[in-house]
Amino acid sequence: MTGVHRLLAPNPGPMTGPGTNTYLIVSGSDCVVVDPGPPVESHLRAILDAIGGLRLRGVLVTHTHPDHAPLAGPLAAESGVHTYGHAPGPGFAPSRRLRDGDRLRFGEAVLTAVHTPGHTADHLCFRMGATVFTGDHIIGGSTVLVQDMGDYFRSLDRIRALRPERLLPGHGNPMDNAAEAIAAYITHRREREAQILRAVRDGARTVGAVVDAVYGEVDPRLRSAAAESALAHLRHLAGQGTVSLENGAGPAETMAVRNTGIA
Ligand SMILES: [Zn+2]
Repeated sequence: MTGVHRLLAPNPGPMTGPGTNTYLIVSGSDCVVVDPGPPVESHLRAILDAIGGLRLRGVLVTHTHPDHAPLAGPLAAESGVHTYGHAPGPGFAPSRRLRDGDRLRFGEAVLTAVHTPGHTADHLCFRMGATVFTGDHIIGGSTVLVQDMGDYFRSLDRIRALRPERLLPGHGNPMDNAAEAIAAYITHRREREAQILRAVRDGARTVGAVVDAVYGEVDPRLRSAAAESALAHLRHLAGQGTVSLENGAGPAETMAVRNTGIA
């Protein structure tokens, strides 16, 4: 029998929604933990309580962001097991690195790593049968911040091609309508990119002006996230030749944008 338990880390906020989802996956008397979360003592105790008398076999992280990975080291040290992730990042380095397609067996369960760059270059999803643990690649109730939009589109296609039934995200609620949720993400990104291209063609000349035109009134706490997201789309468009971007010395919002006139 394999079961999944979700433990919510106490780190709600504008970028983390209700908080980080930590997953305890149990198969027989073995278990693994996915995304133990931020370094919060009470959360570490909650995870250890949930593990109880089970045998912890490994601690996995989807990516090295500070709301997902830092507790991996302390948790793994409690049981003398390895931490698993794609690559080292700020504040966390996995003791075992996973490449695309690598498998982890425990009890009767098999988890397969799926490299899904986009949100970050080091991002992994984990597939277990018809379920995919999506980390910050796809989250419940919101969109995610994207570092590389070309990679991100490819990684969304990658997960769609696996035809999962259920997505268990790093933030927000589980999604039992996986196909719909993935399609909605792809549609949203395509529409956003079209809006951004239109804004440039309508005269927006800086990344900041694009944000004003496309996002309108933004919660000031989310303004830099909106600028980063717009910039990721603009870089993607620049890669296709439809816009050009000029790197200035100042913040991203002041970067100059030009319509190349190429359709
Ligand atoms: Zn993240």
